[in-house]
Amino acid sequence: MPEDSSAPQPSPTPDWKPSTVAVTAGRPSHEPDQPLNVPITMASTYVAGGDLEYGRYGNPTWTAFEDALGALEGGRCLSFASGLAAVATVLDLVGNGAKVVAPRHSYNGTVLQLADLESRGRLRTELVDITDTDAVVAACADAALVWLESPTNPALEIADIETITVAAHEAGAYVVVDNTFATPLLQKPLELDVDLVVHSATKYLSGHSDALMGAVVTSDDELYAVLKGRRDLVGAVPGTLESYLALRGLRTLHLRVERAQANAQELVRRLEEHPALAEVRYPGFGGIVSIVLAQGAMAADLLTRKTKLWVHATSLGGVESTFERRRRWKSEPATIPDGLVRLSVGIEDVDDLWDDLRGALDDLVG
Ligand SMILES: *Cc1c(COP(=O)(O)O)cnc(C)c1O
Repeated sequence: MPEDSSAPQPSPTPDWKPSTVAVTAGRPSHEPDQPLNVPITMASTYVAGGDLEYGRYGNPTWTAFEDALGALEGGRCLSFASGLAAVATVLDLVGNGAKVVAPRHSYNGTVLQLADLESRGRLRTELVDITDTDAVVAACADAALVWLESPTNPALEIADIETITVAAHEAGAYVVVDNTFATPLLQKPLELDVDLVVHSATKYLSGHSDALMGAVVTSDDELYAVLKGRRDLVGAVPGTLESYLALRGLRTLHLRVERAQANAQELVRRLEEHPALAEVRYPGFGGIVSIVLAQGAMAADLLTRKTKLWVHATSLGGVESTFERRRRWKSEPATIPDGLVRLSVGIEDVDDLWDDLRGALDDLVG
């Protein structure tokens, strides 16, 4: 199958900072009458004899997004139809019957995929407490792939990525980090010797709650070729419009993440004082905060119906603030508190966010 090299290759970039890379990577070259943005190329097929040939093998709009995310993560990127399509493609690297180690509080869809694969005898899974580094290192011994998510969703636990990666590599296992929550601005796993980075580009990367897309990034050319081959074969490719939207969103990633993080940090300071809450979980960075209502699930459900600004919705990483009681999903593990509400803090004014949330919380205790 043809090599994917159709898109305008980005001109070699100097040693620019991430915010400059987010704005400049994946653009056409600076020549007269070139558009500043790679256009939306609607094409199922191409004139024969070139590098692309067919719409499942490549598209210039995907490639522009891939160049930009690859530059931010420090590797080569492949985009997928969704985050879970990327997860499935990576899990398929594991041989039949081999063992995968994963956090028990991984993204729920990832845990469900692992359970499905295990139930069909495709692989074995060992779910671990990702904060217990010694236990994770021990679990690595006979593993083929170690899946990491840090922070985890929605428990917001942090893994010791470097120590676990050394142990996994000693065992000959691949290490994958789902970097959806941190984004490459707050965490660059490939620099910690991790083999593969996975993203739900649906979340912070695109950032406007209007597109589903996923990505895998690696600095290993062999792994890139294997995954590209799988994508060609299975066809879990992104839409052209989605790729355009995701890249357009990526241009402001640094501003959005900075603002969401600043808002989250301020809200955490204020929430910690509130009597309606038993717990506020925040790893210190990023825009996701989990709060646990002292009065449990009913109070949490009530909270999600009492606000005007905060929207009750699943998903995260958009410009708008959303929140959700995670245990409303039957598949959410019982180790997640029943009254836990995950906040995805947006980029609105922090005082407006606080007034709306505090008003609803006050009602619960008042
Ligand atoms: C949403 C999410 C996914 C799945 O991505 P989709 O784009 O919804 O398929 C995977 N990992 C994490 C951490 C997520 O938040």
